Amino acid sequence: MSDESATWFYEHFEHSGSAIGFRVTGKVDEVQSPFQKIEIWDTTDWGKLMVIDGAIMLTTRDNFLYHEMMSHPVLFTHSNPKRVVIIGGGDCGTLREVLKHKEVEQVVQVDIDEQVTRMAEKHFPELCDANADPRAQLLFDDGIAYMKNAAPESVDVIIVDSTDPVGPAEGLFNEAFYASCHRALRAGGILVQQSESPLVHLSLIKSMRHHMAAAGFAHFRTLPFPQPCYPTGWWSCTLARKGAELSGFRERGAHSKIFPTRYYNVDIHRAALASPEFMRELGD
Ligand code: SAM
Repeated sequence: MSDESATWFYEHFEHSGSAIGFRVTGKVDEVQSPFQKIEIWDTTDWGKLMVIDGAIMLTTRDNFLYHEMMSHPVLFTHSNPKRVVIIGGGDCGTLREVLKHKEVEQVVQVDIDEQVTRMAEKHFPELCDANADPRAQLLFDDGIAYMKNAAPESVDVIIVDSTDPVGPAEGLFNEAFYASCHRALRAGGILVQQSESPLVHLSLIKSMRHHMAAAGFAHFRTLPFPQPCYPTGWWSCTLARKGAELSGFRERGAHSKIFPTRYYNVDIHRAALASPEFMRELGD
């Protein structure tokens, strides 16, 4: 039975004619940064909810799905990831997962908006508990400029954990940005980017891959995974590799990983590589 007096936070998706809503008990924080408006809501069943410019970013309850799938598949695909760059990711959930990999020697996170990290520290402290790791460096800068100026052949894995391709994140989805990433990656290096919903954003995924190919990447994989708080409840990440195929991953390493996860495991990774029929046109 629905409670008519309850208050709900809804995000409406014009593109897909749908919406996602959470029952909330109130807004607990809000800041207008130079880049965007960040709100924190308390929900009745999903813990805290972070919203940027009206778009749902994460909830306490389901963010592990996204953060684990943005980090572990790419890190277990690379043969020896030592230097990682995260573009965006200001809530620090992806950073926390990356730092679980002991072979990673350095992670630079570049988010344009310091306020996202400050809000995460306050309202999602569990995502920030690895921020003091000496291997982690948090920069607050434009990821587009950072990658443009990055030293050639200096990075093993680039993770683009950005907002949707509008506003400050728009320039993270074009050929010029991918060319900067390609130049900064070592041979065999991998770029992974959140690539929206496979169900309603397939044309965006195709366009991303088209721009990645024009920038020099030759091999791609798009991995779908569940994400209840995002449009359609289904999300994806797209991997692009420099100078090597993307056919397998370190299954033994994934099988015997010594760190805890709540979603990712070797079988989930294998399953995410299986392409649904409607996604076969991507050629994976
Ligand atoms: N996974 C979430 C999603 O898909 O809704 C996004 C999480 S994370 C909070 C996204 C981050 O990207 C934000 O903190 C935002 O400040 C950052 N961002 C957007 N454009 C950026 C840019 N050009 N350079 C660096 N960070 C950027």
